[in-house]
Amino acid sequence: MIGTPTHCPYCALQCGMILSAAPDASPAAPPVEVTPRDDVPANQGGLCRKGWTAAELLTVPDRLTAPLTRKSRDAPLEPCTWDEALDRVAGELRGLRDAHGPDAVAVFGGGGLTNEKAYTLGKFARVALRTSQIDYNGRFCMSSAAAAAGRAFGLDRGLPGPVTDLAASGAVLLAGGNTAETMPPFMRHLTAMRDAGGALIVVDPRRTATARQADLHLQPLPGTDLALANGLLHLALAEGMADDAYIAARTTGFDMVRTAVNSYWPDRVERITGVPVPLMREAVGLLAGADRAHVLTARGAEQHAGGTDTVTAFINLALALGLPGRAGSGYGCLTGQGNGQGGREHGQKADQLPGYRRIDDPAARAHVARVWGVEPDSLPGPGRSAHELLSALGAPSGPRALLLFGSNPVVSSPDAAAVEERLAALDLLVVADFVPSETAARADVVLPSAQWAEESGTMTNLEGRVLRRNRAIAPPGGVRTDLWILAELARRLDAPGQWPDDPETVFAELRRASAGGAADYSGITYGRIEREGGVFWPCPAPDHPGTPRPFLDRFATPDGRARFVPVGHRGPDEDVDADYPVYLTTGRVLAQYQSGAQTRRVPALAEAEPGPFVELHPDLAGRLEIGDGDAVRIRSRRGAALATARITEAIRPDTVFMPFHWAGEGRANLLTNPALDPVSRMPEFKVCAVRLEPAPRP
Ligand code: SF4
Repeated sequence: MIGTPTHCPYCALQCGMILSAAPDASPAAPPVEVTPRDDVPANQGGLCRKGWTAAELLTVPDRLTAPLTRKSRDAPLEPCTWDEALDRVAGELRGLRDAHGPDAVAVFGGGGLTNEKAYTLGKFARVALRTSQIDYNGRFCMSSAAAAAGRAFGLDRGLPGPVTDLAASGAVLLAGGNTAETMPPFMRHLTAMRDAGGALIVVDPRRTATARQADLHLQPLPGTDLALANGLLHLALAEGMADDAYIAARTTGFDMVRTAVNSYWPDRVERITGVPVPLMREAVGLLAGADRAHVLTARGAEQHAGGTDTVTAFINLALALGLPGRAGSGYGCLTGQGNGQGGREHGQKADQLPGYRRIDDPAARAHVARVWGVEPDSLPGPGRSAHELLSALGAPSGPRALLLFGSNPVVSSPDAAAVEERLAALDLLVVADFVPSETAARADVVLPSAQWAEESGTMTNLEGRVLRRNRAIAPPGGVRTDLWILAELARRLDAPGQWPDDPETVFAELRRASAGGAADYSGITYGRIEREGGVFWPCPAPDHPGTPRPFLDRFATPDGRARFVPVGHRGPDEDVDADYPVYLTTGRVLAQYQSGAQTRRVPALAEAEPGPFVELHPDLAGRLEIGDGDAVRIRSRRGAALATARITEAIRPDTVFMPFHWAGEGRANLLTNPALDPVSRMPEFKVCAVRLEPAPRP
């Protein structure tokens, strides 16, 4: 293999690619070119447009190459030396901590950070800062699925097996995922399934690119997925499709769920969801009639104030049909961010320590404290979840300083204008990034960090497979890695213990910290990952083969059985009314990624999707006298956004769709509702009430 084997900088599929020296050696041209790898099962030689153009991230014109500070909030950001930047950050953090206590300082991470960074960030918060105030943007991404899987199976581990298992499935029900746009190479597995006679069932309020490829499309009203899942289970039970032997042998709690779904008779569910009974009946028949089948959820089912219960309803359906814990079948969550899976295992969550351990578990605290060389009592307890943390910034009892790595909450947080106000109320905002994101532009100190192809580390993809990202080129001269930045700050804060900045050394410590935990990485080494092309966790020993398909023998619950949990439909936190008569749902498009801080800077991607748009049905557009391409003002109870109208029959007449990749007035998250799921603390990105009006062109 000539070149450097690595993985894509973007989504959780983590497509494999080779980076080799580019023939065009001009300074403005990317220094490497991308070739897809066909030896990586996730992409098998495929890449999407984002992957093909990933090398262009390395030469974005406004790349940060020197630390920046501003003397006062109104002063401009100006270049400074690394010592000046780090001394200022450490000095001000120390001063705030001494004056107001450790929780005056907060840390915010990201689901795109490598496992080594996520681990070090959590350790830095708890040991160097001694703050409980750390969480990450993965809380916005798939935390409801993680909470529901943990509740049902005792463990959350993404897909139930290798992604290639999907090809042998007889049916896949995909609830709230548009993989044809968000991770196109994933579709080859679904296409292979369909070519072999399997059926794809998509649940989505929009007729997305994925729904257009499906055998069956169920198009529910936003916020009613739980009722739909309960209705499907009602039908399965009524028509004798449940796997009684499996339920008796491998689960608990079924009777309560059977009682709970009694009232979800088909025509009632049709009234709630808008999905015709014959389509529901057909979906259940396809799932129950297949030898092997999968129920998958993604953000559409998860990002709700009742997201954990919604995912639980789909898990209940999968359990009743006997799918989880059987080879080639099961329930799975399609994680979104590049290291959305690993990012939630190593301690950057408010309530977790490395190894997917609970921070309030005395045994977990003792184990991790031993690895970190500190006393268990010195470790703080659980802190605020992501949105609660951002909402408390600068408040009288909230954090007064924030260190932010790998996230852009000015664009990606719900009710984004309110978050912007909280950031402005801080005494100190420090952002590490490789581009001047909208959040970095508001910082007091900006630390320029290395990006994907300039550093090494491990990522855990949506299958639970631990992969290696390899450094292909050196970062620009003024740039440092996040691990180096954290080590230097820890040293300036006189933090106890070791603070290596070499990824493999950090990974060795992560392995020790994870040993014995639910996400046990102790048997995984850089050498094994390279030799084996990735290793599935849990992997508790060097001679352990890894665990591609967990739960085959038992679930990770105390009695080894999966738990049915009864759940009921409540509807969205905010319903439509006379003032705000239309539902808004948000999501992603093919050519952009998350807050767009990276992809908006790649010319081919910016050209493909240049700006914010809102999709609306011709009937709604006609009533509002809005034409295709018109400027539209969208208002919710939280704010107003501006977008270009795209008129399409692919969306319900009572619903509009807006992607969330753009900044300024084009932010969909100026509108979204920060109502939180009570279990996962995930905000309700996927539905709120809005009104639309024609707007003058800017
Ligand atoms: Fe990258 Fe995801 Fe596209 Fe694959 S599908 S090339 S991982 S963005």
